[in-house]
Amino acid sequence: MTLFASVELAPRDPILGLNEAFNADTRATKVNLGVGVYFTDEGKIPLLRAVQAAEQARLEAAAPRGYLPIEGIAAYDKAVQELLFGKDSALLAEGRVVTAQALGGTGALKIGADFIKRLVPDATVAISDPSWENHRALFESAGFPVVNYSYYDAASHGVNFDGMLASLDALPAKSVVVLHACCHNPTGVDLTTEQWKQVVAVCQEKGLIPFLDMAYQGFSDGIDEDGAAVRLFAESGQSFFVSSSFSKSFSLYGERVGAISIVTQNKDESARVLSQVKRVIRTNYSNPPTHGGTVVATVLNSPELRAQWEEELGEMRDRIKLMRTQLVDKLAAAGAGDFTFVKEQRGMFSYSGLTAAQVEVLRAEHGIYAVSTGRICVAALNSRNIDAVAGAIAAVLK
Ligand code: PMP
Repeated sequence: MTLFASVELAPRDPILGLNEAFNADTRATKVNLGVGVYFTDEGKIPLLRAVQAAEQARLEAAAPRGYLPIEGIAAYDKAVQELLFGKDSALLAEGRVVTAQALGGTGALKIGADFIKRLVPDATVAISDPSWENHRALFESAGFPVVNYSYYDAASHGVNFDGMLASLDALPAKSVVVLHACCHNPTGVDLTTEQWKQVVAVCQEKGLIPFLDMAYQGFSDGIDEDGAAVRLFAESGQSFFVSSSFSKSFSLYGERVGAISIVTQNKDESARVLSQVKRVIRTNYSNPPTHGGTVVATVLNSPELRAQWEEELGEMRDRIKLMRTQLVDKLAAAGAGDFTFVKEQRGMFSYSGLTAAQVEVLRAEHGIYAVSTGRICVAALNSRNIDAVAGAIAAVLK
């Protein structure tokens, strides 16, 4: 018996599997709407001008590459806090937020999960139904049982809000509730401010542990607008977690730039929590990499580069909205029916309502790749492929 003889082949990641199939497809007209990446109208992943300027400055400075502190670059952590909570946040002034640089949003979630496991070992984790495909696996691998709370309502293309409240209300105290702070992945369907207020109240009444996942700040309505849910939780006085990511908002996917922020009750708690978070990080990867964090901190702390970044972020946001509007109009013109709901959805994704069978026909007959749940990445549409996509969807629905 060899050491690895009993190792089973793990199931393929569904989205990466889709990419492999897409790459192997030889049709020139193929379109990949399966990915979770923003593309320009030319079909490229942008390298933002603000990022290029910060990288240029860094190269010229020829800075040595010593180890960073375990919690990362101080100027980066502070900039993250200000984006999430607002520059004038009372919590920041009171020293009630602990932030550590992390390896993307995924790394941030894992640091938070590992810390909570030590703090509340018997906790259950609740994620939305449906949720980002890695939430369940990530919290399960951190040792938690993971359950779903009601979220998406296919019939209305909206939120089953009564169902959601009922699910949250039924959770035992100290359950972790993972909430998409904006631009829900995969549905694109977000809560209203009024609904957020009610969710904040249930979490508080029931003594739940809110864990806000902020992977798309700036992709819905703007930086501060998209921070609204985080700020409502902040105002409520509860302790909670926020994982955040710059993968999309800075188009820095491969640099792995994110952060975990934890809201405590006072400065003293913050010091103790930070010391434990540092232990989690130290035993996982010791300290974060320098490049992405330096670039983001440089951009966010320079008034000129920050203004440029906000402009570029606005361009990405506007292009996505334009693609939503055009898709809806073109689908209507092609006789595919009323897809107005796609305009109400937020962020990069849309639950199109297509069934797994229809998605398969789209792929086989038209070379258009979407996730079997019907999720399409609106940020992969462009002026050259949108007519073909709308035509193909209309054909599949006929
Ligand atoms: N959370 C959600 C909801 C996401 O959609 C993603 C990435 N697509 C992440 C977390 C992970 O972000 P990152 O790529 O920065 O690890």
